[in-house]
Amino acid sequence: MLYHSTRSDNAAVDSAQAVLEGLAPDGGLYMPVSLPNFDWKACLKGSSMDMATAILSALLPDIPNMPELVKKAYTGKFETEDLTPTVCVGDFHVLELFRGPTSAFKDVALSMLPQLLTAAKTAKGMDKDILILTATSGDTGKAALEGFHDVDGIRICVFYPYGGVSQVQRAQMVTQEGSNVAVCAVYGNFDDAQTGVKNIFAACQGKELPYALSSANSINIGRLAPQVMYYFRAYRDLLDAGKIRLGDEVNFSVPTGNFGDILAGYLAKKLGLPVGKLICASNANNVLTDFITTGTYDKRRPLLKTTSPSMDILVSSNLERLLYLLSGDTGLVAALMKQLNTEGFYTVPDDLRAKIQAEFCCGCCDDQRADEVMGRVYRELGYLCDPHTAAGWAAAEDYTAATGDSRPMVVLSTASPYKFPVAVLTAIGGDTSGDEFQQMERLSAISGVAIPKNLAGLQGKEERHPGVIEKDAMLDYVLNL
Ligand SMILES: *Cc1c(COP(=O)(O)O)cnc(C)c1O
Repeated sequence: MLYHSTRSDNAAVDSAQAVLEGLAPDGGLYMPVSLPNFDWKACLKGSSMDMATAILSALLPDIPNMPELVKKAYTGKFETEDLTPTVCVGDFHVLELFRGPTSAFKDVALSMLPQLLTAAKTAKGMDKDILILTATSGDTGKAALEGFHDVDGIRICVFYPYGGVSQVQRAQMVTQEGSNVAVCAVYGNFDDAQTGVKNIFAACQGKELPYALSSANSINIGRLAPQVMYYFRAYRDLLDAGKIRLGDEVNFSVPTGNFGDILAGYLAKKLGLPVGKLICASNANNVLTDFITTGTYDKRRPLLKTTSPSMDILVSSNLERLLYLLSGDTGLVAALMKQLNTEGFYTVPDDLRAKIQAEFCCGCCDDQRADEVMGRVYRELGYLCDPHTAAGWAAAEDYTAATGDSRPMVVLSTASPYKFPVAVLTAIGGDTSGDEFQQMERLSAISGVAIPKNLAGLQGKEERHPGVIEKDAMLDYVLNL
């Protein structure tokens, strides 16, 4: 199956090549020339791994042995065999995406991406090792390390801002085992680390290196495609629970940052799954709320720090894929992206805005509202959720109140409450003193919910990667790996 850039119809590549390259040469994102015919009803019948196999085989048909790859990616790594369970909480259903090896939803995709990359490498006869370079504000780094450690033919290097990630997030990364991993702190903030990584890519262009550089973020179709599975899984769980009949539509509310998770929901819909509205939930960084409401995307505003840091983002890369899917016009997408880059904003044509509004709704919530939601959901419904999930819950509530839409609502839960113990303890009225490990213990004592094993086991683990460097030293660090 052929893929081309969202910014031009020329130079199509097959799906294995698209996964290997990540970003298209013109800076656009790879999308299939047309989406495949898909037997969505048959897909709903299997296990979660069967679903993943069917979806990935359809979207990435040039990568062979998909059943094997899926088995390798997921077997024994998640808390439950269905990988992503859906639980009923009050009037909503919560799709728990945080039952993986690092307790963040990025595990679903980053467990699979290494398998896809290695298989694509073999399919394309590429001999060189791949070096995955990633800057992280916390969650992506650890999920990528966990996915890529000890994978043959791939090395991984993660940079994080010194003092800029939580105590638990740092512990997760610096204790990482594996013979092919490097982790290093950088003096500066996340933007400095990210800019440093971009500069390394630029500096290495055209150079003869012993490896090919690649990245683990959601611009790669190989990271996006694995996320389609859990929309099918949630639908099937509602079917099994007798909440819907085959063909009934279901709404999904998605805590959104880079627009990858919610775009996977739209791809599920394009593959036939009866998805109603997709609700794009933001925190106080509500660029997407403004965009979906008005048709103008405007990043010219300060980035606010919130209690849901994985959604603190001003440029949502995967929105470009939606603009392409709904307009089919690569020239338009190229022009809009150029304007975003040079002027900091763009406005889509009215007909495109109408198409977006027909499929998507939006909502945003500040930290205070997220705090209120976490407290109320815990007190009234006995369910502990994290601040990202709370943003999804708030948007779902607002949407339901405003529209009276009675279709079942699934709220995607993207992180374990134990990854954000201060915010969660504050919301449920607990004492927040002590370090994060003490806070986790207290949260567990109050709620009776066990601390995920991977987080509980961190304290006292050997620190293998204690290094810190200046941001100007990042290139040398990589060249000396
Ligand atoms: C990455 C992340 C998100 C945002 O997902 P996108 O695909 O970037 O929209 C939401 N919540 C958590 C906890 C995350 O780690």
